Amino acid sequence: MEIFDTKQRKKVTFSPEKNNTVRMYTCGPTIYNYAHIGNLRTFVFEDLLRRTIKFLGMDIFHVMNLTDIDDKTIKGALEKGVSLKEYTEPYEQAFLEDLKTLSVEKAEKYPKATEFIPEMIKMISELIDKGNAYRTDDGDVFFRIHSFDDYGALSHLKMDDLEVGKSTRIDSDEYEKEAATDFVLWKGYKKERDGDIYWESPFGKGRPGWHIECSCMSMHYLGETFDLHTGGVDNIFPHHENEIAQSEACSGKTFVRHWMHSEHLLVEGKKMSKSLGNFYTLRDLINKGYSGREVRALFLSSHYRTQLNFTFDGLLAIRKSLSRLDIFIERISESKGEVVLETESFEKQFLEAVQDDLNTPVAFAVLFDFIRYINGRMDEQDIDTKNIVILLEKWENVFGFIFTKEKEEIETSILEAAEKRFLARKEKDYTLADTMRKLIEAAGYTVEDTKEKCLVRKKENYASDK
Ligand code: AMP
Ligand code: ZN
Repeated sequence: MEIFDTKQRKKVTFSPEKNNTVRMYTCGPTIYNYAHIGNLRTFVFEDLLRRTIKFLGMDIFHVMNLTDIDDKTIKGALEKGVSLKEYTEPYEQAFLEDLKTLSVEKAEKYPKATEFIPEMIKMISELIDKGNAYRTDDGDVFFRIHSFDDYGALSHLKMDDLEVGKSTRIDSDEYEKEAATDFVLWKGYKKERDGDIYWESPFGKGRPGWHIECSCMSMHYLGETFDLHTGGVDNIFPHHENEIAQSEACSGKTFVRHWMHSEHLLVEGKKMSKSLGNFYTLRDLINKGYSGREVRALFLSSHYRTQLNFTFDGLLAIRKSLSRLDIFIERISESKGEVVLETESFEKQFLEAVQDDLNTPVAFAVLFDFIRYINGRMDEQDIDTKNIVILLEKWENVFGFIFTKEKEEIETSILEAAEKRFLARKEKDYTLADTMRKLIEAAGYTVEDTKEKCLVRKKENYASDK
């Protein structure tokens, strides 16, 4: 398998260091709000990586953290007047539900920062003892970046270019490359900022910084050196650079063998932001009538290292492709012939695509070429489709969207109401159509009007938006 290694800036051949088991760490979400579709693109990329590793015959031990201590979670909890746990828990649940909606496989572990305070304190103490970290009069502890020779190696930052001495420290967790300075490991308690949220430590009351959380949790589960560390491109600096510095300064060993990062998702060509009105959660899309399967397929239709421009037209084009796929699946399940078709060349092309740094656009093309080819042959003769189904089941392990989920059980009265709405719309009786929609929605379903029929789906699978 070839992967693009961020640090080496090139494709390299990948295999796990030990026992055919890939040890992989993924920076998870900050659970202060619902994840947006940009975040979810990155999590689907990591799921694709995980599934491909297994598809290629390796085992995986995958850890994804859930950031429950940071400026945003603390602010949210204080504003709402609830504990940190009460504040973050609903977002944790919502996130896990989103992953399920997108057919993302479960990681082996989902640790949270609040569960690792003693381990983080121990690591910070070690860094102080080794001279890599220092305390300030405010009760903060900082990592001294000039104590670590390799600082900047991941993000290709030249230490000589930094204006060292101007501002020597930064205590916010996220900042730009130009502001590369000593970064915070432990934030001393400040009542106006932290309310009653703090932990006791040898450096005084306070709480850990964001970067140390990931170093601690990854090494706890995966060892001082592990195979793969992933995230979105915005994680490269400062987060991952800082993770490397503090982990390697502590252990004296290479922290991570390979780094992989996925590019950002844009919406209609722009950065997603609330003020531009182009900010979407998965729930927003579900409420608009799209499915997790469609969103997943859209994410996988582009390569993870190219920016994905999310558009509703793109999503509708995916819907069309998926309906072609569904018709094909139905067709092969009904075919009862005896002629067996060779599928080897498609199998080989698919394998080569996913082995080549997860080239899903090519894998997509192989899937649809395959459908075209088999459809053509089925037009000519009756074929035995057993080997075709077996191949699609194999590919499904990577794609996760080939087969439709089981059909939802929808009550007869709702299906009748949907049919009535469809006919009423056709006859332009909008009063009746509206009454039917209200009736359907009141029963917990969403309505989508298409040319052929009025589609209803259960709403209860998805927690309502804020
Ligand atoms: P956060 O909750 O902000 O820590 O982000 C969770 C994950 O989403 C990280 O891996 C980020 O790199 C990634 N991410 C943030 N914004 C985007 C975006 N617009 N497109 C793709 N990934 C993103
Ligand atoms: Zn992280």
